[in-house]
Amino acid sequence: MVVNKSTYRVVVVGAGFGGFQAAQSLAVDKRLDITLVDRHGRHVFTPLIYQVATGILTPDYTIAQPESHLPERVRVLTATVERVDFDERQVISDQGTLPYDFLVLATGATPQIVNIPGARQHAMPMGTLSQAIALRQRLAECLIQAGPGSIPSVVIVGGGTTGAELSGALAEWARLLGKEMTIHLIHGGDEMLQEFAPRLGKAARSRLERIGVTTWMGTRVQEVTEHAVRISGDRLINADLVIWTAGTSAAVPELSAELGVGRQGRLQIRPTLQVRNRNLDQVYAIGDVSINDGSASGESANPPPAVAPTALQQGVVVARNIRRQISGKPLRSFSYLNKGRLAIVGGYLGVGKIAGISFSGILAWAMWLGVHWVYLPGLKNRWGALKAWWRTYGPGASRLPLEQILSGPPTSQPSKPSSKI
Ligand SMILES: Cc1cc2nc3c(=O)[nH]c(=O)nc-3n(C[C@H](O)[C@H](O)[C@H](O)COP(=O)(O)OP(=O)(O)OC[C@H]3O[C@@H](n4cnc5c(N)ncnc54)[C@H](O)[C@@H]3O)c2cc1C
Repeated sequence: MVVNKSTYRVVVVGAGFGGFQAAQSLAVDKRLDITLVDRHGRHVFTPLIYQVATGILTPDYTIAQPESHLPERVRVLTATVERVDFDERQVISDQGTLPYDFLVLATGATPQIVNIPGARQHAMPMGTLSQAIALRQRLAECLIQAGPGSIPSVVIVGGGTTGAELSGALAEWARLLGKEMTIHLIHGGDEMLQEFAPRLGKAARSRLERIGVTTWMGTRVQEVTEHAVRISGDRLINADLVIWTAGTSAAVPELSAELGVGRQGRLQIRPTLQVRNRNLDQVYAIGDVSINDGSASGESANPPPAVAPTALQQGVVVARNIRRQISGKPLRSFSYLNKGRLAIVGGYLGVGKIAGISFSGILAWAMWLGVHWVYLPGLKNRWGALKAWWRTYGPGASRLPLEQILSGPPTSQPSKPSSKI
């Protein structure tokens, strides 16, 4: 039940795609006192971080400060939410306690290296900006060392979008520097890029092989050691560096009541985006931290993919539903509008599926650049990305100098707390 008040406190946890969009959409309603909390106090444009790892973009072009894109009355707080107390309606963070009337959990997912012997000790995950920066450092070291007498071997695990884009960009980086590097891409499924038509996965794989990546389809990693990866058939691949791009798990803070969870530990939600527990009508969960696989409504449902457009669209709907709830109107169900998928495999080759039509080639590549450019928040970032892409793909192609990468900070610095509780 919603008590009639003149102001309602809305706490949005997570300034990723879902939370940032929710805060923007909620901000139009003057009845709402909004606080956006994020552990880093910034929005990271994740689809471009593999370009940070491969020396194309500097990290700052993938970051937006939420307060620059929100009205002043929306508070942005740099804090890690440690616990949510549903009984007291409080969010407990390392910077203090925030009471709420409505809560939006948009904490996303974190990369999860599966429980394969040695994988957690020896593989580097690739899912956050800090990990991309750390990886860039290691890759730059490998490239510096590469030479006729010593050819480094990099093994990339996971043939989804991140694995495919990363291996293409890495092979081109090595070739650009005239360095020898062995790159292996290992994928458990029959064909890479499974969200696309099999012929597109095949086209992407042929391209990767042409630029020097050895691909292993239908292959499982059985063990990772300091210098090798053991795969199905008990074969060993030498590895100076293993990059893990497969698998995530929901980043759920501690909760005072148990909520239903689905695959990857994602919180079960209703079609209205409220959490499954009927006593918690004021609590919503959106984006990668949530899932509606139908078990909340007793029907089977096909959950939307865990991608940025799902989180963005849910950010708009959650704001609409909170406002409807306050006004006593019935809530609307979320329905995912599939605008299509795009991926690139190095310069000038992309694959796409839009409105049911699958295509590949330079058009898909150009569309990928265009779509990411349009969605990248902030003029400074767009200008920076444009310059970096011209430098990478234009005449006289180059990347960031290795010396600059090696002398840079090992991880990205979190923003300073921008607001106090
Ligand atoms: C490497 C990589 C490449 C990708 N490429 C694509 C792509 O090309 N296209 C695409 O559509 N999707 C892509 N995705 C998926 C896409 O990034 C996610 O689906 C999307 O980010 C989900 O948005 P979200 O708002 O749920 O979570 P996120 O964007 O992950 O945001 C979650 C936010 O919550 C914050 N947070 C987490 N826990 C706490 C806490 N306890 N307290 C405070 N703050 C917290 C985090 O700091 C983060 O800012 C990619 C993902 C990865 C990892």
